[in-house]
Amino acid sequence: MPAESPLTRHRIDACFLGPYGENDGLLEKLVVEFLRDHVYWRRNFHPEDPPAISTEASRHPDYLAFESRMRRELHQLSAALKRSVPFHSPRYMGHMVSDLLLPGLVAQILTLPYNPNNVSEDSAPVTVDMEVQVGLQLAQMVGYPHDPLQPDCAFGHLTSGGTLANYQALRLALALKAFPVALRAAGVPDLVLPEDDWAAFNLHPGAGTQLLDQWQRWLAGQSSTLRNQWRRRVQEARIEHLGLVEFFARHPTLRVPLVLAPVTAHYSWSKGLKLLGLGRAQMHLLPENGMRLDVDALETILERCQRERQPVLLSVAVLGTTEYGTFDPVDRMLEARERASAAGLGHSVHVDAAWGGYLATVFRNEDGSLRSRAEIARGYNAFPNEEVYSAIAALADTDSITIDPHKLGYLPFGTGAFVCRDHRVTALLSEEADYVFTGAASKSYLERYRGLGQFIPEGSKSGANAAAVFVTHRVLPLNHLHFGRLTRQTILAAEAFHQRATRFAADNQDCVAALVPFQPDSNLVCLALNPRGNGRIAAANAFVRGLHDDMRADPRHPLQLKQFFGSMTTLRAEALGEVEMRRICDALGLDSATLDGEEGNDRIVILRHTLMNPYLIDHENGISYIDLYFEYLQERVRQRLGTIRPGDSSASV
Ligand SMILES: *Cc1c(COP(=O)(O)O)cnc(C)c1O
Repeated sequence: MPAESPLTRHRIDACFLGPYGENDGLLEKLVVEFLRDHVYWRRNFHPEDPPAISTEASRHPDYLAFESRMRRELHQLSAALKRSVPFHSPRYMGHMVSDLLLPGLVAQILTLPYNPNNVSEDSAPVTVDMEVQVGLQLAQMVGYPHDPLQPDCAFGHLTSGGTLANYQALRLALALKAFPVALRAAGVPDLVLPEDDWAAFNLHPGAGTQLLDQWQRWLAGQSSTLRNQWRRRVQEARIEHLGLVEFFARHPTLRVPLVLAPVTAHYSWSKGLKLLGLGRAQMHLLPENGMRLDVDALETILERCQRERQPVLLSVAVLGTTEYGTFDPVDRMLEARERASAAGLGHSVHVDAAWGGYLATVFRNEDGSLRSRAEIARGYNAFPNEEVYSAIAALADTDSITIDPHKLGYLPFGTGAFVCRDHRVTALLSEEADYVFTGAASKSYLERYRGLGQFIPEGSKSGANAAAVFVTHRVLPLNHLHFGRLTRQTILAAEAFHQRATRFAADNQDCVAALVPFQPDSNLVCLALNPRGNGRIAAANAFVRGLHDDMRADPRHPLQLKQFFGSMTTLRAEALGEVEMRRICDALGLDSATLDGEEGNDRIVILRHTLMNPYLIDHENGISYIDLYFEYLQERVRQRLGTIRPGDSSASV
């Protein structure tokens, strides 16, 4: 196994507070230093303004009473928070979260007392630009154009999380899809418009963007009176103005478009369709094959849609599924889109990389260019497989992407991100008239986005979050030499975990069948288990649920009673395909005929491990928490089954 040299390891030693709070001195120094700095800033604003709170105030009974109430509540809060889930610990392998990066944590704490509101530059003169810069940093990471002087530069912004970023993707794709229909309805002269509503509604997003661009230029060439008139006419024909009901009533040859997503898609997609009023029924879930979206099934549905004149809004690729960390074939999905578009069924391709987005750091050189697969592979056992490499390489050609800095970016919650490849389309989101081309008065890229609230789904929002992400990406640029070192650790940990799991399976085959059900694409590793002699799915599921109960947060019991934290997911035939499902059942000794709809036993319950913590392998003390975990799991398995390991007299039943 490729080992980490001490030199490499030490480069990440200052990154986190650390499992033991090793870097407490550093964090404390920085927080106090910048708190003082903030106080001086207040005092230097108008030094002639005297202190409004008297120096004696702190002795007044009211002051003291308030202080003691505040202290009491804060102590209670602090005491209660001790029941929190120990995300920082290498014993935590549960959900998609780990320790926080110090640059982000400090930047966030530092910014909080300034309380910037990133809704616009009026309330966030500093952090709005940082948010837009974060969009460019992420754009570069995925290979989108990221030079704001380029007319088709990407644009990205932060959201409360991946859920809202996915919602923004739906909103933007719908706006772009329906806009050419509005141009036709308004009867705009001089532009070459599609010949009918169907063609207008089903343009390739690139062609839709071109048309929007031409419209903006045409508008800029009109007198201000005409400009306002035409703007209003088009505005009043848009889907955002009319609503779905009226829009489709006026265009009877069109139907509400479908969203095509893999069965493994996150439930935020269902929420988004409901929220947008498109309806959950418009979500068409595609089967997977070997844990990846089945492109043949995608092609089949696209052909059917074309035949039945059923428009498609988006096809969604998941890069790092929430359940298994697997990657959909973005490259082949783009090819399918090009074929469908050429046949008159244009639609956007969005990548839900809420989890896997930051893995792209491992694939990028400092200058932003893509590393070769061979070069990357030298550092790992099996990563990156060909599918993973092709999927990452293809990101540059997608239309938009969701990435969660609060997951694999090791940043505080409240930070998802949405990035679209060509920023010109955001004109369609703007609440107010957004003139991109108005001669000398035209705004620069950064100026345009200083009114961020015009474009985002939220209104008021934290500028501190934006500062945290921006500073982190400056300290650790998003390439393999910097941020990529962290992501690399997660993949190495996953490879070590996979190997150790194989040993666990061999060591315990007398009492349990254990299996990593498929080669992990990244840093989530699942483990399927079935007690020897059992053939029934229901019994195997109950067994694994029992193991998981030992490893989940339980507010009724002290944290310290837990040895490890893990999570759970399920294997379903729709995600695996029948062949794979049978292979796994056979390997586990399960009778696939016992898969039935009763009480969720139409699927196999498995353990799921998120390997994000950078200290899973503690080189300093020669401890592998991965080894400790498997020793613990062995003990739990044997205790539950009432078996002692052959030749092991110390194990108790
Ligand atoms: C986590 C996740 C989401 C939702 O993101 P939130 O930040 O929880 O809102 C969406 N898609 C995928 C693939 C995810 O992993």
